[in-house]
Amino acid sequence: MTWDSIVDTSRIAAGGLADFATGLTEPSIRLGVTGLSRAGKTVFITALVHALLKQARLPVFEAQNEGRILKAYLEPQPNDDLPRFAYEQHLASLTGDERKWPQSTRQISQLRLTIEYAPESFFARTFSNGKLHIDIIDYPGEWLLDLPLMQQTYQQWSHAMLTASRTEPRVALANDWHQYLSSLDPTAPADENAAVTAAKLFTDYLSACRQQEVSLSSLPPGRFLMPGDLEGSPLLSFAPLDVTPDAVFASGSMGALMERRYQSYVSRVVKPFYFGHFARLNRQIVLVDLMSALNAGVHAVNDLRGALVDVMGSFRLGANNLVSTVFGRRIDKVLFAATKADLLHHQSHDKLEAILRLLVSEASHKAEFQGARIDALALSAIRATQEATVKQKSGEFSCIAGTPEAGEHVGTELFDGKSEAAIFPGDLPGHPQAALQGLAQGTLQFVKFRPPVLTAETFPHIRMDRAIEFLLGDGFP
Ligand code: GDP
Repeated sequence: MTWDSIVDTSRIAAGGLADFATGLTEPSIRLGVTGLSRAGKTVFITALVHALLKQARLPVFEAQNEGRILKAYLEPQPNDDLPRFAYEQHLASLTGDERKWPQSTRQISQLRLTIEYAPESFFARTFSNGKLHIDIIDYPGEWLLDLPLMQQTYQQWSHAMLTASRTEPRVALANDWHQYLSSLDPTAPADENAAVTAAKLFTDYLSACRQQEVSLSSLPPGRFLMPGDLEGSPLLSFAPLDVTPDAVFASGSMGALMERRYQSYVSRVVKPFYFGHFARLNRQIVLVDLMSALNAGVHAVNDLRGALVDVMGSFRLGANNLVSTVFGRRIDKVLFAATKADLLHHQSHDKLEAILRLLVSEASHKAEFQGARIDALALSAIRATQEATVKQKSGEFSCIAGTPEAGEHVGTELFDGKSEAAIFPGDLPGHPQAALQGLAQGTLQFVKFRPPVLTAETFPHIRMDRAIEFLLGDGFP
């Protein structure tokens, strides 16, 4: 065991002890909500919390359906080192006159919801009511995809990044960075300005890979695209160099500078996130913008596939750490959810779910992930559309209808953000394997809709109750 890992282990143990002490007094679920930027985390958490606080009609959520949920309220969160999830602000923007989607996740945050309930058994009920704390931890999926860096040297990482960037569709987006990189000599004396420029061009390349039409998923280091509180920090001024995985750098060289920065990033950014937050979760939902990946084509699907294998690998790591062995905390349920299902007609919801299920089962097999219950579903946290049938000379079309956001367009028709429109969103292939082979490329038509008018206590949704039952249902024994 290295000194580094001894320190890390004791850090987990200290954190685990605090969680354990809290867990001793009252049961709690620590639910991680993650997904790449724009996957729908903020909307999901806001809708989830609202549904639980308002005791909305959620047919599949059994404890609620049986009338056993007595009271639900927000409480101060247990961890003082995390910002609070801005629930009230997000709700206000959704329900305000302007009907705006809330500000997306930029960094980690937390919210504690407490639920009092009547226990299931008559015997337990005669003693007292049950109480469950649900700690929701919202964090960028980009940070989760950083965890494999803990097991890679700078040289191995550089080599892997360079190799990937020379393949389609990345290579066309890497032009500027590649050109600059060819002028950098890893053995030359370290040059701070060159490191900063390389980091900037590398970040530009990563964000080009993230654009809707390319929709790649696996783009570490996560803080380059989602810096959180590290915006502008020197910790982010490194980039890959064109070196072999076993290269050795002389002290004072450009290579040595980059290697040192990479190691600082891993030890000061990736590890604290892993040990301080990720390793203490015991439930997890991973939100996936599967439709964008399917629409972008086979490269995006393959990249998503690789990202899911990495995600599974991180959960496997989480299941075997000291917190879980000593204190019994481990991720025991993981839900993968394809979000924004309301952008498709309901005839495609099951197809979307089947595609995700196949991807997830391939990934869990590949990562040899065992131990936790895994499920996959297609959902919409807040349904912004309704369904309509449009008759035209060429036939009938199953459409979705809502208020497209100002500036959105279909063909030459430009929307003003006020009028409603029915849009044919396209359809998914009937066979999930065909979709994964890229057959859905370009077949879907996306329009961003404004949130619906949200006045009722139950927000319109698709399959949120199934998600809640899977993630939290066993918390009300
Ligand atoms: P985050 O980056 O993961 O926090 O993503 P957000 O929750 O902010 O969602 C990003 C965008 O996706 C929102 O601004 C909405 O435009 C859209 N979105 C999220 N959830 C839904 C949904 O259930 N239905 C629809 N139609 N759009 C959604």
